[in-house]
Amino acid sequence: MDMTRIRDRMVEHQLTRRGIGDRSVIEAMRTVPREKFVAPGFEEYAYDDAPLSIGEGQTISQPFIVALMLEKADLKAGDKVLEVGTGSGYASALMSRIARQIYSIERHERLALQARERFETLGYHNIDVRVGDGSKGWPEAAPFDAIVVSAAAPEVPSALKEQLDIGGRLIIPVGRSQEQRLKRVMRTGPAAFEEDDLGGVVFVPLIGEDAWTAAHPMYTATAPSAGTFASGPASLPNAQEKGMETTDKLPALPEGVLDHTEFQQRFWAVQRLSWIMFTLLLATCLLGLLGRGGPFSRQTLLLSDGSVDFPIISRWNAPEDMTVNFTASSEDRVFTVDAAFLQTFSVQGIDPPQKATFAREGRIGYVFPADPTGPTQIVFRLQTQLAGARRASIGLGGEVRSQSTFIFP
Ligand code: SAM
Repeated sequence: MDMTRIRDRMVEHQLTRRGIGDRSVIEAMRTVPREKFVAPGFEEYAYDDAPLSIGEGQTISQPFIVALMLEKADLKAGDKVLEVGTGSGYASALMSRIARQIYSIERHERLALQARERFETLGYHNIDVRVGDGSKGWPEAAPFDAIVVSAAAPEVPSALKEQLDIGGRLIIPVGRSQEQRLKRVMRTGPAAFEEDDLGGVVFVPLIGEDAWTAAHPMYTATAPSAGTFASGPASLPNAQEKGMETTDKLPALPEGVLDHTEFQQRFWAVQRLSWIMFTLLLATCLLGLLGRGGPFSRQTLLLSDGSVDFPIISRWNAPEDMTVNFTASSEDRVFTVDAAFLQTFSVQGIDPPQKATFAREGRIGYVFPADPTGPTQIVFRLQTQLAGARRASIGLGGEVRSQSTFIFP
């Protein structure tokens, strides 16, 4: 397997397309071999767009969420950074490629030891790993330019805020199992902090003195079922191993962004707007074709004494022409309409005018002089009167046709 290519594809598909633009983060994600941070035998899943099990009921976070947190932490080359929740060590490894010194704290000894071994093997010498409760921070190494917390706290632990340098950034998921928000807390002065909401996320809980305790309802709250992991290797057998504390026997929560980044939301808004504009354009074209004056708005009725060009789509109170073409005839020609026609249209004028008009058997007849030399065209100037779908009949000589018309209100 060519991991470099797979890694590049992951960066392209999962990160840059979702709006991750920080060059140093992208470069680190291209460099650090994520496959070395997953359980042996699961390397092929390492670049999936999902969190994976790392044992002790914990997970290595989804690549996108890690990249998002690092981008929002705004790491600089000279920075001293604390990660709370080392887990596999992947996020700390990434940060070690960007910042000067990383302090990484993990409550599970086995995970901390494994992570330390990985850093040694990969030659990442600027990461200090410690086993302990990260909700209290790492006071001896403080202040930090950035703190990244990879597990969800009930609220922002005050110790972590205090260990931020002025100008320092703390990235932390805060909230209950299904309602976590990713927060960025920036220290702007000795006692001044600014807080931003970066979106909805789901993380495993931060367990500690200044975080959740085993007795907290977080543990009894409905966690996403193991089915959530069914398609990914998070349901691996090592997800829940022996010798764990009670809290670790619960299924691990997946980490990921639930409501989406600002970029994605803006992208979707533009996409939605484009669809609406496209639909409106399409409707306008269709109405243009079908609507009044459009090529499909008229119909020609062929009868034995001639033809009638009849308006089948119109607008209320609009002028319309109806053209009657008589074939050559040595007898007077007769055009008739019924009462429904005269309710739908009022006749404003006839050009050339009729010779006579009559009413017979519920129909009005218009008589035009004979012309044996050739066909004659008569234009009826109409005005639509009633909106909606209507039906009326017209006749040439003794032949009568019924015709529908739709008049837009
Ligand atoms: N960043 C990690 C990675 O890249 O693999 C993923 C971390 S995992 C989502 C969260 C980790 O936080 C778990 O390994 C868990 O044991 C750890 N954790 C939870 N509470 C902690 C605490 N109070 N102090 C230190 N680590 C804690």
